[in-house]
Amino acid sequence: MYLRAGATVEDRRQWAKFQQVLDRWSAWRDRQGRRAFTLPLAGCSDDPAVTQLDKMTAAQWLGQQGFDSPRLLWMVDYACRDDYGMSVGQASAWAALFYFVSRRVAPGGTGRPFLTWPEGNARIVRHLAEMAGDRLRSGEAVIDINPVVRDGREIVEVVSLASNGADERVRGYRANRVIMATPQFLTPYLVRPWRSDRPEHVASFEYGSWMVANLAVDQRPAGIGFPMAWDNVFYNSRSLGYVVATHQAGEDRGPTVLTYYYPIVDESPKGGRRFLESIGRDEWADVVLADIERAHPEIRQLTRELNVARWGHAMIRPKPGFVWSGSRESARQPWRGIHFANTDLSGVALFEEAFYHGTRAGEEVLAGLSISHQSVL
Ligand SMILES: Cc1cc2nc3c(=O)[nH]c(=O)nc-3n(C[C@H](O)[C@H](O)[C@H](O)COP(=O)(O)OP(=O)(O)OC[C@H]3O[C@@H](n4cnc5c(N)ncnc54)[C@H](O)[C@@H]3O)c2cc1C
Repeated sequence: MYLRAGATVEDRRQWAKFQQVLDRWSAWRDRQGRRAFTLPLAGCSDDPAVTQLDKMTAAQWLGQQGFDSPRLLWMVDYACRDDYGMSVGQASAWAALFYFVSRRVAPGGTGRPFLTWPEGNARIVRHLAEMAGDRLRSGEAVIDINPVVRDGREIVEVVSLASNGADERVRGYRANRVIMATPQFLTPYLVRPWRSDRPEHVASFEYGSWMVANLAVDQRPAGIGFPMAWDNVFYNSRSLGYVVATHQAGEDRGPTVLTYYYPIVDESPKGGRRFLESIGRDEWADVVLADIERAHPEIRQLTRELNVARWGHAMIRPKPGFVWSGSRESARQPWRGIHFANTDLSGVALFEEAFYHGTRAGEEVLAGLSISHQSVL
């Protein structure tokens, strides 16, 4: 992703030095043999030599290291916006290094292979739904979770609301254990006793806003300089560019869908949500087209349909002091039969972390119910 074309001697020197720093962190191990940065994040070292990086922003750390190459700063800023929806001046230095180092298998490595599908997360959802079979009840929003004592035994009562047009149905469940895989910002609304007595840790979970647009195009737009890749990034744009959703199908002509990503980083989390909401679909469509047009002048003529999705609480924000603050640890503790499993408990929005917390919470429940099992973690 680093823009080599047109780089000065000094740009290249700083990029090489940055790679050496990443290699050093990649080879680093603490006394227990743990890596500084690894996936899932629970395996990362908590040695102060590493966690002190969480006390400053990525921009402050780069400055301390003597890095000032605009291309390098852009690259790190892009990384922070890509994985955290934050700028280099907002994300913690620990999080920025986590982005680059956790995926390297070894020093000098280019990173682990990644998985992607034309239909995105829908592939995973379908797989899980097939496994769950008729045990799955979709289309129900949980509106109340209440731990109670019945017949001397603590259980959890759950109320859900299913809405199908005018037909609304309320359903009640009683469970020995409940796994809440929803983000932390929802827990004070859903867990009944927490409505009036909100746990302290909830306030430290902050979420950034994103606008995501899908453009159905009649054919691939021509570009200047580079052939279309899967992930296409515009240097010095506020967006992250776009991915070609059908790239893995192996066809490089004909209709396709371009998925365009725009994290809102300039504002506070609340301000970002207000900004996101204040801009209507047509204005967002114009932002998207004007940005893509710089690389593909005929994009407006080729676009048949353009859908805009606004995500107000899109990604957890690893601001300085959050990942290693203890808030995540407090938030993941089971409470009166309720177990917590959302990815935000890692402080970074990555699927590897979703799998980790889902598995961890499942194993917590098995242990809580004294069901013998072998941990896969
Ligand atoms: C724009 C964007 C791009 C991303 N790209 C990547 C990527 O390329 N790679 C990557 O690894 N990660 C990516 N992520 C992050 C990844 O999507 C998340 O980390 C992951 O989806 C989190 O999974 P989860 O199951 O923990 O939580 P979520 O996906 O947030 O799931 C929570 C679920 O709870 C449901 N829910 C909420 N309230 C209720 C209720 N009251 N009752 C019932 N259900 C409820 C929601 O509908 C939702 O389905 C991206 C995120 C965003 C926003």
